[in-house]
Amino acid sequence: MGAFPEATTVGPRPGPAPSPAPPRIGVLALQGSFALHAAVLRRLGIEAVEVRRAAALEGLDGLIIPGGESSTMLKFLLEEDLFDPLVAFQRDGGALYGTCAGAILMARTVENPAQKSLGVLDIEIQRNGYGRQLESHLGACPCSALGEPDLPLVMIRGPVISDTGPRVEVLAEWRGQPAFVREGKVLATTFHPELTDDTRIHAYFLELAAEAREATSRKSGGTISR
Ligand code: GLN
Repeated sequence: MGAFPEATTVGPRPGPAPSPAPPRIGVLALQGSFALHAAVLRRLGIEAVEVRRAAALEGLDGLIIPGGESSTMLKFLLEEDLFDPLVAFQRDGGALYGTCAGAILMARTVENPAQKSLGVLDIEIQRNGYGRQLESHLGACPCSALGEPDLPLVMIRGPVISDTGPRVEVLAEWRGQPAFVREGKVLATTFHPELTDDTRIHAYFLELAAEAREATSRKSGGTISR
């Protein structure tokens, strides 16, 4: 036996692993139903940042682009110099979720009429694609990714997704057209879950944003700097 007692490991006490910090989420607050999205996130325990300037994107893991009027929102995006920073946010790994007008803004191609768009989601989309006589309607659509029951669907002058690229997953359909899609950490719905009591799509988005947060902290060795 040596002169010294056997070495013991000095370190943190064993215990439950610390729960990961929640993702930081912003809601684009230029126009449209941003306050309702913030309210859903609050129900899920997340206090969202209202984004009106590019500087507010700093440090966020996910951003929701709400419904509203896409041409008006586009005008404000350009006026506030937010267009390129939003493209960069997605390119740098931030999660995005666009509802209705938000989906239009994120699309690769917008028609009816054609309109400039961020091109962060590989879809072609027709504005007001359900036609005037069906400007607003209610429904429900199955979504196997989110389980039972069917997702309640509120459609307000909603667009129709008329084409999806090869990396786009269709998570739910309405009247034979994609209504909820995902490409990596980008989600879009042509309908408005923030107008229902169903928080599953927002919770799903928070999971993607948490992945974005983890990826960023791994890249920066623990300090998050997006
Ligand atoms: N029709 C609107 C547009 O083209 C979108 C409607 C909505 O977001 N509910 O921008």
